Amino acid sequence: MKPLNIVVCIKPVPNSRYWDRLSLDPVTKTLRREGIPVIISPLDTNAIEEALRIKEARGGRVTVISMGPENTVEVLAWAFALGVDDAVLLTDRAFAGADTWATAYALASGIRKIGEFDLVLLGNESLDGSTGQVGPQVAEFLDIPHVTNVEKVDFVDDDTLHVRSKIEFGYMLIETRLPVTLAVTKDINELRIPSVFGALWATEKEAKKWSADDVGVDKTRIGLEGSPTYVPEVSNIELQRRGEVLQGEPIQIARQLVEKLRADGVLPEA
Ligand SMILES: Cc1cc2nc3c(=O)[nH]c(=O)nc-3n(C[C@H](O)[C@H](O)[C@H](O)COP(=O)(O)OP(=O)(O)OC[C@H]3O[C@@H](n4cnc5c(N)ncnc54)[C@H](O)[C@@H]3O)c2cc1C
Repeated sequence: MKPLNIVVCIKPVPNSRYWDRLSLDPVTKTLRREGIPVIISPLDTNAIEEALRIKEARGGRVTVISMGPENTVEVLAWAFALGVDDAVLLTDRAFAGADTWATAYALASGIRKIGEFDLVLLGNESLDGSTGQVGPQVAEFLDIPHVTNVEKVDFVDDDTLHVRSKIEFGYMLIETRLPVTLAVTKDINELRIPSVFGALWATEKEAKKWSADDVGVDKTRIGLEGSPTYVPEVSNIELQRRGEVLQGEPIQIARQLVEKLRADGVLPEA
């Protein structure tokens, strides 16, 4: 069996326990993330798990890559504890404020710099932005095929994969060849818990930190300035609706409800 070089893209996202502390910058319309602890976007942990399983079955290396601020090293330490071999952090003020296109361009450039790769795994969508665009865009920049909604991967031979991609009411079975990018769903596997050995391993490992110059990107294509889309306006939804809890026995509640709906003109008069 041919050992594989697998790269997993992992996005640092604000820990949902602290979402009440998040706010928007009124000028740049971007999230203010300072001081908010980060976690690996959940589906990216499934992507790491799948990469580790493939490596355990076939041999090779698993490298994670992330683009984010300095505190992203926290999530990379977690990836090391799970068992990945290497981690790369693209971190530079010049990358900040990127839209999905500029994010994918930076990630693809980083993946090329890592070296030869056979398989690139991503989450199908992130916890916060959730556009699901970065996977297909990374594939475009790398000029390789891409499959989304992946819930199962089987190797047919060293270079050929059968990939099950979830669609409404069923799935598609897709045959593809390496190199390929796959965006995975939570159904692809059950996550492992880091072992004590993994935690010790993580303390000895350090992520490589690459700036825009290190990666050699075209600086007009990264960050806020290099993003072809921008957010002109962001607003909070103010709910106009009012909730009311009806009390009493079920039959009384049903009567009250019918009366209220009639009064509001939702139901016709009896
Ligand atoms: C004008 C504009 C400005 C923005 N400014 C900011 C900003 O200042 N700060 C900010 O945090 N966001 C900003 N965003 C949001 C930013 O576009 C997204 O964070 C990013 O591009 C990823 O999009 P997404 O979350 O929808 O990813 P999806 O496409 O939903 O993610 C799919 C998968 O791609 C991979 N992936 C996505 N992002 C990364 C990453 N950074 N590193 C590694 N893997 C990744 C992961 O595997 C993820 O599961 C901005 C967006 C716009 C349009």
